[in-house]
Amino acid sequence: MARIIRLWRAALVACMLCMSVAATAKETALELPASGSAVKADAGSVQFIGNATVLIRYAGFTILTDPNFLHKGEHVHLGYGLKSQRLTDPAIPLEKLPPVDLVVLSHMHGDHFDQLVQEKLDRNIPIVTTPEAAGALADMGFKNRHALATWDALVVRKGEASLRVTAMPARHGPPGGSAPLPETMGSMLEFGAGGKAGYRIYISGDTLVYDDLDDIPKRYPDIDLALLHLGGTRILGVMKVTMDGKDGVKLLQLVAPHHAIPIHYNDYDVFKSPLSEFEGEVKAAGLQGKVTYLKHGDTYRFKSGNRR
Ligand SMILES: [Zn+2]
Repeated sequence: MARIIRLWRAALVACMLCMSVAATAKETALELPASGSAVKADAGSVQFIGNATVLIRYAGFTILTDPNFLHKGEHVHLGYGLKSQRLTDPAIPLEKLPPVDLVVLSHMHGDHFDQLVQEKLDRNIPIVTTPEAAGALADMGFKNRHALATWDALVVRKGEASLRVTAMPARHGPPGGSAPLPETMGSMLEFGAGGKAGYRIYISGDTLVYDDLDDIPKRYPDIDLALLHLGGTRILGVMKVTMDGKDGVKLLQLVAPHHAIPIHYNDYDVFKSPLSEFEGEVKAAGLQGKVTYLKHGDTYRFKSGNRR
C-alpha cells in the first residue's frame, strides 16, 4: 500500500512539473505615443520619492513604482482592519509628479497605492500589476490595466525605445496562504532602444526570500540594478511579511546585481527592521561597494555603456 501511495505521489509531482513547463508565460504589448525628441539610451536615473515609490527614467520612458504620496502622520489600510501610520513625507507631492508613461504596482496595499492615489491618479494611466490588484483597480475605475501572472511580460514601445516588464515571483508572507496578504509580484524592467539591449532593473516587491526566487538569477544572470523592498514589516507585531536586513543581503547575494538600492524601510510604523540593520549586514558581508543609499528625493544616475 505504501508503495502505491509513493508511486501515486511521484506521478502527481511529475504531472505538476509537466504542467508548469507546459504553462508558457504570456506576452502582451502596449504602444505609447513617441515623445518626438531623439531617444538617448546611454544614461538613466532612479529618483527615490519614499517608501517603495521611485521614478525611473531611461530611453525616453518615465516609470513610477508603487505610488504612495500620503504625508507623515497619515494612515494607510493594510486590509482586515489593520492600519499603519506613515512616519515620513514623500519627496514630492502627487500634484508635482512629472508626466508618467507607466506605473508598475507590486500589489494592492495602502503603502503602495494609497487612498490619495486611488482618488487622484489619472484613470487612463497604464498600470502593470498582478491579476488581483488589476481587479481592484478596475473597481476603482482605472481603465488601462495590464495584469501579469508570474513570468508573464508586457512589452511597451515608445517610438524606437522599448521596455519589457516581466512579473517575478514574490510572496508577501510566510508559506501556506493562511495570512490575509495580497498577491504580489516582483518585476524585471529591461530597457532597449534602436535594437540595442540597454539596462536591466529588478524590483523585488514586498517579498520574503523563498525557493521560487532561485529561478530569477537562473533566468536573469546579468542584472544591472536591484531595488530591494526591506522594512522587516511585522503584522500584529509578530508575523514577518517583508525582508529584514538579513533577508535583504540574502536576496542581494542570490540575484547578484551589479548594484543595489534599498527602498521600503523606515517609512511606516509596521516596519520593524531599520535601514541601519541592512547597512550592518551589508558591511558584514563585504558588499558595501554594491549598495547606494538614497534619501528621499535623492537620485541615482547610471550609464548603460559602462555597466559591467
Ligand atoms: Zn509594503
